[in-house]
Amino acid sequence: MLFPDASAVEFAPGAVLFRAAVEPMAEDLLREIDGVISVSPLRTVMTPMGKSMSVEMTNCGRVGWVSDRTGYRYEACDPLTMRPWPTMPALFAEVAATMAARAGYESFAPDACLINRYSAGSKMGLHQDRDERDFSKPIVSVSLGLPIRFNFGGECRTDPTTKIDLQHGDVVVFGGVARLAFHGVGTLRRGVHELT
Ligand code: FE
Repeated sequence: MLFPDASAVEFAPGAVLFRAAVEPMAEDLLREIDGVISVSPLRTVMTPMGKSMSVEMTNCGRVGWVSDRTGYRYEACDPLTMRPWPTMPALFAEVAATMAARAGYESFAPDACLINRYSAGSKMGLHQDRDERDFSKPIVSVSLGLPIRFNFGGECRTDPTTKIDLQHGDVVVFGGVARLAFHGVGTLRRGVHELT
């Protein structure tokens, strides 16, 4: 894979970190997130195992990721509002396509965006993003606010993980041979960030 971008760090094959890539547009991104939340509010969801997740979630785009007692899946309608998820802001699609291309994944046009809000004590266990139909497309992850530990492993849950402290404005893109890598997020520590 080609990395013309000097600021890109390939921390695992197929997985690239861009430090502070969206920091200059963080306030615009947060404003768009506020717009999404005003239509489809953040909510706590249950896992199929009946545990409530510690992060709050919502979505925008043509479909959104949902979890409940019947499983994980994508749905065109928000189960909370019974209405279609909010349209994905053009800025999100632009950021995702641009960052994917910078990581070597050309022609990415996202149709779904999951928004996870971590508060103090929230975390995300190791998991694979495998509810999508097309694994040839990458995952583009944008971090805003307080720093948090990101753990990135391999295709087996027990594979060793690379640990990265994600900071405000960082973008991670993973696809190709890394597309089904297990990944998770450590516990958010209490703190204050001026924008979040
Ligand atoms: Fe994930």
